Order: sequence, then C-alpha cells, then structure tokens
Amino acid sequence: MLETTLAPAEATIPAAEPLLSIRHLSKRYATPGGIIHAVEDVSLDIPRGSITGLVGESGSGKTTLGRTLLRLVQPSAGSIRFGGTELTGLSEREMTAMRRRMQIIFQDPVASLNPRLKVETIIAEGLRAHRIGSRRERRDRVAALIEEVGLSPDQMRRFPHEFSGGQRQRIGIARALALEPEFIVADESVSALDVSIQAQILNLLLDLRERRNLTMLFIAHDLSVVDYLCDRIAVMYLGRVVEIGPARPLVRQPAHPYTRALLSAVPQPDPAATRQREVLEGSIPSPLDPPSGCVFRTRCPRALPACADAFPPPAAVGPERIAHCINL
Ligand code: ADP
Ligand code: MG
Repeated sequence: MLETTLAPAEATIPAAEPLLSIRHLSKRYATPGGIIHAVEDVSLDIPRGSITGLVGESGSGKTTLGRTLLRLVQPSAGSIRFGGTELTGLSEREMTAMRRRMQIIFQDPVASLNPRLKVETIIAEGLRAHRIGSRRERRDRVAALIEEVGLSPDQMRRFPHEFSGGQRQRIGIARALALEPEFIVADESVSALDVSIQAQILNLLLDLRERRNLTMLFIAHDLSVVDYLCDRIAVMYLGRVVEIGPARPLVRQPAHPYTRALLSAVPQPDPAATRQREVLEGSIPSPLDPPSGCVFRTRCPRALPACADAFPPPAAVGPERIAHCINL
C-alpha cells in the first residue's frame, strides 16, 4: 500500500524552477444552461525539458486547460507563470510576442487550414506573421523544418489533402517548430492515427525534445501512449487534476481511484505491476452541475460520506507525487 500523508501544495514543486507554473487556474463558461466548470482550481508545474502528459476522459477539461496556458482561452481565475513571467496580466500584444515561445499542435493540424494553401505557406505562416526573414530565408527555413520532421523538401509545394494522417501531423509539428518555441502543447496529436504511425510520431517528438530541448504538455486520452512518451503525468477528471506524478510509478501503482479506473481499461504487459482492476461505471456528470466535494465521488467505488464535503487537498503519495483523495 502507498504511504499517505497530507502535504502542503508546496510539496509538489520540484527543486529546479519549472518552465511553466500554474496555480489555482479556473475556466468557467457562462452558457444559457448555466455555468460550465471546464477547469477548476488546477495547480501544476511543468519542469523544463520534460514532457508532461495530461490524461482523462473526453470532457474532463484537457483541451481547455491546454489552450488557457497559451491564453487562446482567457482564464477565469488563477495564475500562469511561464519562464518567470506572469501571463494572465499581459496585453494581447505582449501575449502575441510571448506566443513565439509557446506553440500548440492540434489533433488534425492541417484540417482547420485553408485547403488551397501549399504546405510551404502553412509552415511559414508564423514566420510571416512575426516578419521573420526574407522570402528566400523563410523558404530555406521551411525546407530545413520539413526535413527535420521526416518529410522531403520536394513535398513543400503540395497541398494538405495530398498527405496521410501521420504526414499531416508532421506538417503540424513543423509549423509549431517554425518560431523555435520553448514550449509546445500537443493536443491529441496521435489519437486519430494507427498504432504503428503513432509510434513514429511519438519517437519524432522524443527526438525533437532532445535536439531542441523542448518542454511539452502532451494531451491524450490513451494512458499507454502517455506512459511511453511522458516523464510526468497529470490525471484530470471533470475539470480537476486528481493525481500528478512521475509517469512510471503513477502507471504501475496508481493512487487515485479515478487513475486506477482509467488504467483498468489499459492492457497490462508488466507482470510486476500491482494494479487492481476497478471498473468505471456510468458516464461523466454534467460540468454544469458537478458533484459537491470530490467531483469523482458519484462514480468512485470507495466513496465515503465525507467525500461530499470538500474537494480533497493534495496528499503526498510518493516522491514528487500527489493525489487528491481522502481515502488512499
Ligand atoms: P477535453 O479536452 O478533456 O475533452 P474540453 O476542455 O474540450 O475537454 O471540455 C471541457 C468541458 O468544457 C466540456 O464540458 C465542454 O463541453 C466545455 N466547453 C469547452 N469549450 C467550451 C466553450 N467554448 N463554451 C462552453 N463550454 C465549453
Ligand atoms: Mg480535448
């Protein structure tokens, strides 16, 4: 069993200053049906050079959190520090400058773009917007980027629909890299791809992290993918982060009942692992009316009456590892 002690939030901060530090971040949407709690009081550090995974069922708030970090979505409350700068107070203009350092890759990064634009134009878009280089210089830079992501420069003149799903993901990665960012959010970047193609893209991301010393937030609903790629994992449920820790220990010995349930659905190749099977029943409650106290309690096999009182504070469940549960 895991050793459990109540720990102050500070216990989650790794020794070196993280590139990204989120505190008490919330995003609520006012809709005709009421207020949607998409992200609720999330605190999370992303260490420099790390790949942090963000997992959880559809609707748990992963995309909203990822976009809020770049202020593509405006937070309702909380703080986002990036490289020592507080982002929440920046003007739109200051934020535009900051976005050179922070980029996002969408699930189908090419689908949302004009199908009549050539790949070269798509990848160079950020360079043009920030007025970097001459036309010629931009073209050379795009050619180098295309090669770096494993495509050939003679493909620059083609149109997005001429590429496979995996190649389109490579184009999206090249586009995100064009401005030489320090931090990349990859939102479900491999979720739509076949397993063999997934592996190629994950290995490309690992290579790029090494070569460019990138820091990443990798969003996925598939824990086996995240386990392969990430150093740390944060598990989200109904707007809340419920568990955070180093990837291997978290996957081998999940602490939070929700993490256990998510992992029960994943085949277990490692006989030394000590996971118990726990099956998730029912579906995720409406974010318009989340349960009081612990948001997971209505589906939790171990819920106690006290779970309705308050969202549990972080409990230390290992080195640099916390879970929000009163019943570990
Ligand atoms: P995930 O990426 O984990 O599937 P999302 O961040 O997309 O989750 O969504 C979290 C919740 O916020 C969902 O209930 C979703 O319907 C809601 N939501 C997301 N964007 C908006 C928006 N612009 N307006 C209203 N509700 C939204
Ligand atoms: Mg999403």
